[in-house]
Amino acid sequence: MKTVCIPSTDNEFIIGKILCIGRNYVEHIKELGNETPSDPVVFMKPASSVIKDGSSVIIPPISTDCHYEAELAVLVAKEGKNISEIEALSYIAGYGVAIDMTLRDVQDSLKKKGLPWEIAKGFDTACPLSDFVSAAEVADPQNLTIRLLLNGKEKQNGSTGLMIHPVAKIISYLSGIFTLEEGDIILTGTPAGVGRVISGDKMEAIIEGVGKITVTVANS
Ligand code: ZN
Repeated sequence: MKTVCIPSTDNEFIIGKILCIGRNYVEHIKELGNETPSDPVVFMKPASSVIKDGSSVIIPPISTDCHYEAELAVLVAKEGKNISEIEALSYIAGYGVAIDMTLRDVQDSLKKKGLPWEIAKGFDTACPLSDFVSAAEVADPQNLTIRLLLNGKEKQNGSTGLMIHPVAKIISYLSGIFTLEEGDIILTGTPAGVGRVISGDKMEAIIEGVGKITVTVANS
């Protein structure tokens, strides 16, 4: 079983479901030529896709176009259903940094056929995830800068203030469909600047005041 921890409080959580929000930043929607959705776009990754700092993303042989998407990750503290936006932030145990690895070629071909994208988003190693900081240490989750460096060069730099659906709204919306449980993780979407990685690349995703994760890339 995969776990995440909040080192400052020594708390460890068994990872439950990983709920992901797509198309949550306007500039990223434009760069992929997608339409802006009125409701959040939701998909899931299995807990088995999580890897820790210092590990390697392994690109499966079904893809030649694997992309990074740096994202703010939210760790759920307690069970909740139909949570209001006003109460939503009290359900958060902590914040972390995730890279939503995506097999863009596989995703595009599944999308064209109207089929689910799970393979493109949920393969082994598809979810590099940092340690978490406790929610109390983050004054405003909508005022954080997400950056991704590829081989030392900055590729993504966007503020969580640019989210279409902010964290409180995401929690409220998701909890109307899925009961949220302790250890669930929510990936909140990526700002613009996504791109391809190849074997030998090194990615660093950083959110100032939240954390950092560094992973390398290899072929299977
Ligand atoms: Zn994403």
